[in-house]
Amino acid sequence: MTDNQGARHAGWKFDNSYARLPAFFYSRLDPTPVRSPQLAVLNVPLAASLGLDAQALRSEEGAAVLAGNRLPEGAEPLAQAYAGHQFGHFTMLGDGRALLLGEQITPSGERFDIQLKGAGVTPYSRQGDGRAALGPMLREYIISEAMHALGIPTTRSLAVVATGEPVYRETALPGAVLARVASSHVRVGTFQYAAAWGAPEALKQLADYTLRRHYPEADEDGNRYLALLRGAIRRQAELVAKWQLVGFVHGVMNTDNMALSGETIDYGPCAFIDAYDPETVFSSIDVHGRYAYGRQPYIAAWNLARFAETLLPLLDDDRNRAVELAEEELAAFGEWFRRHWLAGMRAKLGLSNEEPEDEHLAEELLGLMKEHKADYTNTFRALTRGKPEETALHGTEAFARWLERWRARASRQPEAETVSRQRMLGHNPAVIPRNHRVEEALDAAVNRGDYRVMERLLAALSRPYAHTPEQEEYTAPPEPSERPYRTFCGT
Ligand code: AMP
Ligand code: MG
Repeated sequence: MTDNQGARHAGWKFDNSYARLPAFFYSRLDPTPVRSPQLAVLNVPLAASLGLDAQALRSEEGAAVLAGNRLPEGAEPLAQAYAGHQFGHFTMLGDGRALLLGEQITPSGERFDIQLKGAGVTPYSRQGDGRAALGPMLREYIISEAMHALGIPTTRSLAVVATGEPVYRETALPGAVLARVASSHVRVGTFQYAAAWGAPEALKQLADYTLRRHYPEADEDGNRYLALLRGAIRRQAELVAKWQLVGFVHGVMNTDNMALSGETIDYGPCAFIDAYDPETVFSSIDVHGRYAYGRQPYIAAWNLARFAETLLPLLDDDRNRAVELAEEELAAFGEWFRRHWLAGMRAKLGLSNEEPEDEHLAEELLGLMKEHKADYTNTFRALTRGKPEETALHGTEAFARWLERWRARASRQPEAETVSRQRMLGHNPAVIPRNHRVEEALDAAVNRGDYRVMERLLAALSRPYAHTPEQEEYTAPPEPSERPYRTFCGT
């Protein structure tokens, strides 16, 4: 089989529903070819679940496709148009360096966007070069796959291809293209774009499209657009609760980075907390802490209010009634969030039944962690291992009292201790993508061409709840010299 046939038979099977929306929603264009595509990393299990042949993707032709140099059969590349509130300021955006190749239909009949990030300039690039650097694309690959393994809805990473071309940021960096896989790339910002600049019909088309694609259960007879708002609110509440439970800081929760699918999207300045502190900010540009760890639920609610505003014309012909309906739904966000968060906290504490004081018990532990700058992941891990003496809280009277209350509380549940321990193992990860380990892997890959460090890290991250002895080395928090950790935009 020649290379050419290899790619053709890689298993691409596109059906491009987004391209069937009115041209208002996108600009059609092909990726800009790159000099010499070299596959850096390929997600073999993900390829298989998409119905793609990893062997074929590894071929020269396969890498050319993943770099955008060659189009697979059935692809209809386009840049999506969208707007967004960036740090509170409304602006026109759009895919400035990403192109949607098409929607892959998997062997089980699911539909996933295949998007090339770093594929060249588009009509929405503004001053940008349309390209991406290798380090940040590998970083997105690592963290998105870690999130997936943690059980958190997320876009995924199929491959990173080095382009053989430099990109110019503060210095010259090796360029790359990331093949991103998503349930869709419809964002709150897509609705904002339609509401701001579209004909009234455009908004309705987008809403109907999103309902069909992501909320097929919405009632045909009832107020479908209210069902869309409700569904989006519930999914975001659950998503952000999951972020909080693992200590994930998204870092750039602009409305263009909130997906209607309910998946985590856009891994720019994100990072995981080590020492517990709600005020944690990693992004160098987030100087006011708008997107701090502890503010994420509020920001999600703020973004959803922007989403609700776009839907008003569809909710009711009477504007006042529409506002009333939207406000009712938005008011429920807090309770949805709290419910998911508390359920997760109970699981982390090994509790199967509910008592009114549980929230207080969890909050108290977090308060102690904050006071003693305890590592969030490792505190729960130590409790899971039945080794509270391994936490930074050990030796304090307050923690001794807390432990006593927790044990008394745990004894008031029907589950046996072994079952409870099992529950804790399944909800308290041993391994998260710790910043210093991610940096170490990126340094080896980008600066020395050594991908083994990253492969080992990826392997550990793929089973975060396994708690194996080999994972032990990935549980160490950063040295003081590695703090405070900073992430940078302009990737
Ligand atoms: P992000 O911060 O990744 O959500 O990106 C915000 C906006 O900037 C989006 O419209 C991106 O497409 C655009 N953008 C980011 N980097 C580049 C780049 N290198 N070239 C062109 N557009 C970019
Ligand atoms: Mg974005």
